[in-house]
Amino acid sequence: MAAKSKKSMKNITVIGAGTMGSGIAHVFAQYGFKVVLNDISKTALDKALNSISKNLDRMVEKSRITAEAKEKTLQNIKIDTDLKEAVSQADLVVEAATENEALKLKIFTDIDQICPPYTILASNTSSISITKIASVTKRPEKVIGMHFMNPAPIMKLVEIIRGYNTSDIVCETIMDLCKAMEKVPVEVNDFPGFISNRVLMPLINESICCLYEGVAGVEEIDTVMKLGMAHPMGPLQLADFIGLDVVLAILRVLEDGFGNPKYAPCPLLVKMVTAGKHGVKTGEGFYKYTPGSKELVVAPKFSRFTETLSNLSNLS
Ligand code: NAD
Repeated sequence: MAAKSKKSMKNITVIGAGTMGSGIAHVFAQYGFKVVLNDISKTALDKALNSISKNLDRMVEKSRITAEAKEKTLQNIKIDTDLKEAVSQADLVVEAATENEALKLKIFTDIDQICPPYTILASNTSSISITKIASVTKRPEKVIGMHFMNPAPIMKLVEIIRGYNTSDIVCETIMDLCKAMEKVPVEVNDFPGFISNRVLMPLINESICCLYEGVAGVEEIDTVMKLGMAHPMGPLQLADFIGLDVVLAILRVLEDGFGNPKYAPCPLLVKMVTAGKHGVKTGEGFYKYTPGSKELVVAPKFSRFTETLSNLSNLS
């Protein structure tokens, strides 16, 4: 059966209610789609609804949307921990679960069996092959990458990744859908890291290497890139926002996918992830944050060049 056209898209299921899933659910709901947000964790779902509500409040305060639009957006979102129930009516599923290949392959195997034949299956993966994800389904022509940027309600870009078998009609449908939500979709082919992360991750990794080798401290590195290269946020703070565990997972995919050691993650990144310092979501990465907030509260741990090496050796 042919994929549904843009006009008939109504029911969207988002799998994974973390940083990205909650933002993606917000975007679809704000543009009038009926959204089911699914996660294995009820706590994650409750947290997601709370954060969507707070983000909508901020948009009302800034007069970007009305209070009525906020209520309508929230009414468009249902939460559900039961995968079968969550995807059974979906025109489109957007998977935004943890960046782990085995996990994503299992989710796509399952949803392919449950979803109606017309359902388009999209992944928000940052780096995992869409062709590989599609290969575990019986509908590879209806599998596509829909890579929203963080924070999804604010960022305009959606990288659209065509797998080897993705059909033209599915690609056009998803491009049109993004435009209908005032996003800017950019079509790319399926290679490790696509465009965004193939270019961004070596920059972040090299910044971490500069810190690791004691070239400069956190603030210095971020300041050079902000003021010298006009980046709105330094690469180390950006890594905290993305999640250091996610950064590490993407670098591993690049390293394996290209078989090139230039993508090997810096030992400091590996050590920090092992120590549970995952950035904003755990309250500490290269910077410290107020728990449950993105506000930076403490000066960087490695703020001075002279302290860098001794601090690194103390990190457990
Ligand atoms: P996250 O860790 O914040 O959230 C992942 C969520 O997935 C968690 O709530 C977890 O409970 C849930 N989950 C795990 N297994 C599941 C399952 N079987 N079924 C349903 N839910 C499950 O991760 P994130 O940062 O939101 O990343 C999600 C995806 O988006 C990843 O593929 C990541 O690469 C991609 N992505 C992340 C960013 C970013 O800046 N963080 C940007 C673009 C894309």
